Amino acid sequence: MDCPTQNAYWLDQQDRIVEVSAEWDAFAEANEGLCVAALVKGQSLWDHIADSPTLRWMEALVAQARLAGELTQEYRCDSPNRKRFMRMSIRCLSDDRLEVRHELLREEVLDPPVVVEPATTDYEGSVHRCSCCNRLQFSNAWLEPDYAASEGFVPAGHPLMIVYTVCPACTTALDSVDSLKLA
Ligand SMILES: [Zn+2]
Repeated sequence: MDCPTQNAYWLDQQDRIVEVSAEWDAFAEANEGLCVAALVKGQSLWDHIADSPTLRWMEALVAQARLAGELTQEYRCDSPNRKRFMRMSIRCLSDDRLEVRHELLREEVLDPPVVVEPATTDYEGSVHRCSCCNRLQFSNAWLEPDYAASEGFVPAGHPLMIVYTVCPACTTALDSVDSLKLA
């Protein structure tokens, strides 16, 4: 399926989804990961983010956008064989709704491909994947997926079971935005 390159949803003051752009479901289906979940009008955005590190990260972005009026955050939303460089733009509208727009900036081949599958629980054999930069954690190192695969960290023949989180580098980057705003 051809994935739409841009999509948006709108939130009310209680962070409920009030509108979803027409191509959202196709967009969510074509993209892996919690960065673009299938969204349902009337529900809270927070019901669609399962892991608490990503939830807190997204809450911080939304809170900062409400304070600053707008905010952009680049992130990765890879498919098994494509690195997808994305940008999320959050904008406060005049009626206090928030517009959250996701757009594809560029793609690169992900070689070797990396097939991931979310693990329902954190267990031995699963690895952490950062919801922002999509890097994978092996021991104390956060590795690009293609590098991890080429170095033999990713098992061949079956999906890599992953647990979503936000890596220390992306957490620090968000904290520094916070401190800039408060300075
Ligand atoms: Zn990261």
